[in-house]
Amino acid sequence: MRTALVTGGGRGIGAAICKRLAEDGYRIIATYCKSSKMAEMVVDEIRNSGQDAVAVNCDVTDSREVALLATHPWVSEEIEVLVLNHGRYDRIQAIELDLEQLRRTMSTNFEGAFLVWKAIQPTLTRDARICVIGSQLGTRGSSKGADYSASKAALATWARSLAQAVAPKGQRVNVIAPGFVDTDILAGDSVEKRASREEEVPLKRLGTPDDIASTVSFLCGEESAYVTGAVIHVNGGLYLP
Ligand code: NDP
Repeated sequence: MRTALVTGGGRGIGAAICKRLAEDGYRIIATYCKSSKMAEMVVDEIRNSGQDAVAVNCDVTDSREVALLATHPWVSEEIEVLVLNHGRYDRIQAIELDLEQLRRTMSTNFEGAFLVWKAIQPTLTRDARICVIGSQLGTRGSSKGADYSASKAALATWARSLAQAVAPKGQRVNVIAPGFVDTDILAGDSVEKRASREEEVPLKRLGTPDDIASTVSFLCGEESAYVTGAVIHVNGGLYLP
């Protein structure tokens, strides 16, 4: 049985990735931190569609919880796809950022991803695919998220380093850098702000979680067999590095 593990799989982009990979034939482990009910809904939806899934509680900043995740029977068997999707974005002004806030963001977005990979890597298959959800801000930076941008830059560079290290084994590691995606991250936007975001995007719409999920599906499939160490920008033309 092919198994995919998605961190932060209970809502937003992570939930869409879980459902898409289930459609692709994977059994799904969806981890969540706080959104237990939403994660259970994702699991129910996948099971109702005939595929198997389980929700597992794991705060990625807690090394004991990550170690526990690695002991789950499905993880102990074999993991073919690992999607490091979880993330936090607190929109702190760069000038006001303090050390505690910086550490909190780095601990979740960067170290959390590292911890999960480290714990799971003994059970990754020889040809495992690892997808890391970065951000356009990891390249362009943001005055309202120096911590977030730095954490996503670190994540992308780590992932590209890992891609080079594990390629001889046959494993592939890629980064997806979304632009504006319509999830809870943008839920605080006013109607005007949302309209201005849509206007800013050359394709004239926000991205959907499914836009990201379909890219994950591609990066986990045979069609992308020669793609590794890439950063794929999925942003409607918003930012062209
Ligand atoms: P959401 O805010 O909707 O979801 C965030 C996810 O991260 C939730 O599943 C949450 O789990 C999980 N999470 C947060 N903290 C932790 C933690 N300590 N341990 C485990 N899981 C945690 O965000 P999106 O779905 O929009 O974002 C998904 C990814 O895409 C993130 O990495 C984000 O940075 C990135 N991204 C999003 C963009 C957007 O415009 N939406 C743009 C660029 C990048 P729970 O709810 O269970 O606590």
